Amino acid sequence: MSQKENQIPMTAEIKALLLSVGSADVEDHKLILPTLKSTAGPSAGSSGSVFINSGGRRVRLNIDQNAPLKIRKLPESDEIGIYLAENSSESSENASGSTESSPDSSEKSFEKLIATGKIEPVLAHCPDQAYINLSEKCIYDCKFCSVPILQGHTKTKEESLKIVRNAFEKGPMKAISITSGVEKTPEGELERVLELMPELKKYNVPIGISIYAVSGGSKKLKDAGVSEVKYNIEVADPEIFKDVCPGLSKTDVFAELEEAVSLFGRGNVYSNLIVGLGETDESAEQTVEKLAEIGVIACIRPIYENALRKGECFMKRPSKERLLKLFEMQKRISEKYDLHPEKSETMCSLCSGCDMVPGRDD
Ligand code: SF4
Repeated sequence: MSQKENQIPMTAEIKALLLSVGSADVEDHKLILPTLKSTAGPSAGSSGSVFINSGGRRVRLNIDQNAPLKIRKLPESDEIGIYLAENSSESSENASGSTESSPDSSEKSFEKLIATGKIEPVLAHCPDQAYINLSEKCIYDCKFCSVPILQGHTKTKEESLKIVRNAFEKGPMKAISITSGVEKTPEGELERVLELMPELKKYNVPIGISIYAVSGGSKKLKDAGVSEVKYNIEVADPEIFKDVCPGLSKTDVFAELEEAVSLFGRGNVYSNLIVGLGETDESAEQTVEKLAEIGVIACIRPIYENALRKGECFMKRPSKERLLKLFEMQKRISEKYDLHPEKSETMCSLCSGCDMVPGRDD
């Protein structure tokens, strides 16, 4: 059989399955060049990640040698296979396409090849972009996030520009995206971004900024040449938000999102919505629709059950079925409000590694 006949493209359903697991064991470490350590957001501090492109879709998986997903080079092919380890107590129930991997007859484990694809090279943090986290520390204490625990390094202007320069040289670089924790104040992070902008604009690619919302900040970012912005609403349910994001104001974030849409236009403003914090599907839908009404695209992000924050809040990675249900909901709402996540030029909706993105993953 030819290499093409052996290919199993990642469908939306398979991507949802991969995202519901969230991590994979890469058996041959030579496949990962280089291993990526996350320094931003809820999964900061994880042991690295890998991007796989298959069937025109992309997924990012954390690397974890205990994960039920295994990534392995396919024989006589330049592609890798993603295998799902399944346990079965009855030896006759071997799934089609599976290979038996345990000699134990009472509890057999099988591996089923569920997708094939290519490992993608990374420019800075993700493929195609120089995506930089400026401050790997934060004065806030969102209970799902490692950044306040790790309190890492704040990059100097020179360090940030060097990352962009390296990404450009590796290329092709489609966008520059910037995120940041809050080292001292949200205003300080806005200033840090504004100081970089004259140098970043020289690359002539779209620039996306995701920082804590500052009143009046969108105008300054727009004037500085930013293309798209993201202010994160994080949690759908207002009661859960109060417990999980102490010190943050949903009202303030919404107000600045509205202001940003008036400046950047509908569909050029984003907001992360984390799912798996105990919210209902109904509250997630209400939030996605409330954002869409004002012209904001939600990035529905499955929570990583963060070992550093164990016990501090409810965290449960959504199932494949739930991710598909939320994806269908977001597709419907995007159509209703004429929003097009697939046209994003920067940040996560361009990358699409961590989320199901309407228009890219249909
Ligand atoms: S989707 Fe966003 S957070 Fe995930 S890898 Fe891509 S750029 Fe990073």
